[in-house]
Amino acid sequence: VSRLGPVAPRRSDTSVLRPLGLDEVVLRPGFWGERQRRNRTATLPHVRDRLEAAGNFANLRATAARDTSAAHRNMVFADSDVYKWLEGVAWEQGRDPAPELADDLRTVTHLLRTAQDDDGYLDTAFQLGAPGRRWTDLQFGHELYCLGHLSQAAVADVRATGGTGLLDVARRFADLAVDVFGPGWREGVPGHPEVETALVELYRTTGDERYLELAVLFLDRRGRGRLGPGRFGSAYYQDDRPVREHRAMVGHVVRALYLATGMVDGYAETGDRSLLDAVVAQWDATLGTKTYVTGGQGSRHLDESFGAEYELPPDRAYAETCAGIAAVLLTWRLLLATGLGRYADDMERALFNVVAASTADDGRHFFYVNTLQRRGPGPGRPAWFECACCPPNLLRLLASLQAYVATRDGDGVQLHHYTAATVDTTLPEGRPVGLTIDTDYPAGGRVRVRIDRTGNAPWSLALRVPGWAAAGTLTAGGRTGPAVADERGYAVLTRAWRPGDEVVLDLDLAPRVLWPHPRIDAVRGCAAFARGPVVYCLEQVDQPPGADLADVAVTADVAPKPGHRDGLDVLELDGTVRTPAGWDGRAYATRPPGAPAEREVRLLAVPYHAWANREVGAMRVWVPVRR
Ligand SMILES: [Zn+2]
Repeated sequence: VSRLGPVAPRRSDTSVLRPLGLDEVVLRPGFWGERQRRNRTATLPHVRDRLEAAGNFANLRATAARDTSAAHRNMVFADSDVYKWLEGVAWEQGRDPAPELADDLRTVTHLLRTAQDDDGYLDTAFQLGAPGRRWTDLQFGHELYCLGHLSQAAVADVRATGGTGLLDVARRFADLAVDVFGPGWREGVPGHPEVETALVELYRTTGDERYLELAVLFLDRRGRGRLGPGRFGSAYYQDDRPVREHRAMVGHVVRALYLATGMVDGYAETGDRSLLDAVVAQWDATLGTKTYVTGGQGSRHLDESFGAEYELPPDRAYAETCAGIAAVLLTWRLLLATGLGRYADDMERALFNVVAASTADDGRHFFYVNTLQRRGPGPGRPAWFECACCPPNLLRLLASLQAYVATRDGDGVQLHHYTAATVDTTLPEGRPVGLTIDTDYPAGGRVRVRIDRTGNAPWSLALRVPGWAAAGTLTAGGRTGPAVADERGYAVLTRAWRPGDEVVLDLDLAPRVLWPHPRIDAVRGCAAFARGPVVYCLEQVDQPPGADLADVAVTADVAPKPGHRDGLDVLELDGTVRTPAGWDGRAYATRPPGAPAEREVRLLAVPYHAWANREVGAMRVWVPVRR
């Protein structure tokens, strides 16, 4: 029996697809396999060092020592960054065990147990920084948010290593939360959702229904203004209306997405369809009006919120890395619940254009904000942040990424994400399935699937045909035909397979020009470029001399040509440089401007996820189109 991954529904009647276990998919060297390896060798030790330097561990040590003179260091949710790191350590220890990881798990679990109060409470921001004031600041106190991340780390430890020490710590804290916030007690709701999805997973791991009940209580109670208007109004923490009544996502993006994630989990275990239906509608509206071409979400810096419909300025994009991660976590659950490939498309967009973009080539520098335009030279990815939510969030996602690649159902196996990997699972009635996936996707569009292991009975192999793919072919049993997607978005082959059988999916990676909705004022009259799931951008360093990115343009019939340069899959664009004429040093003229002087240039675009790894200069995703 394979060990369970991060999302493991107990009920089978509420999910169309079942996730595969941790051991059932292995990423091999390829786009994601390389990133998972780098996450282990570079990001994981880097995050540990930075948590040490920033004082996150010092908070726990001082609390464990009952040192009342120690001041709490760092943000109020500093403990959650330790938990996210610990979750990543647990997944990595399960994937590829090492003594130093086992040591970290053992030592920090002991530290947490020692720091925990006798009644189960554990939050150093309050134990050190505001003793006697626990649960008094549900808006911004983040105690339940920290409980959520502690619970997820504990679930990861149980599933990946079988260790239960961390689970004991998490359960004691969760039991206290049940006592304080459960039925018949306080009416509180967490200011930052996250504990809902975590409590559902804690229920899935322990079978203790009180955790599921509390998660559902938190969902049902929300939206009645109980948190008060706070600094940014009730909508900031989705407390302005009940969760089922929102039409689109509002407020703080990461809060909104984690809340929706908990709603889908709540549906999956209770069967309350109204929770799923609400998220499906909200997600649709959010994709339609509040999502950047990269899949990034959130345009307001002030309150890290979505902003209004079509308020998507590229240069002021917030698009927090954690929001991209949260979108991956949400769309995976929507995919499991519905079986619809469109959610895998959304997931793929966020993975390639937010998650992949946020980490530098060295695995030790990260974007918090994923802007779509930079106007000139500036800082690249910092090594760390005062508010350090993003790096350890990337760590835990990449350490468990193999769990998000494929699924099974009663009929067979579904491949959602194409990357070099092996899949080894068992279908109902003990039917074995072993696959090897060979591909250099997204550099190339060819995905070769070899059947390594199979029984005699027929089963189905489902291959996602991405929504962006205009054309594709499928070769199986010596015959090639168009890759025709079924109503869920998958090309499905059902047959009695033999070991050695091969299926080849060829996706058309011809570059595509993307046009913005006319209501997005900020990029009206511009075009963007993509190839497969990868969005492109122009960096100043790649342009010919004199081609200032502030002045470049393309024509409406621009035809990007794919090529290679310095190890990157690039696009060449015929463009122009327009030198503004007739301006007297002011930003506005009193008469319509005359035609600018123009000269033709060859522009070069690189994958957006690769930007700012060389010289950090001007960059733009959207390019003006000449009339
Ligand atoms: Zn973040």
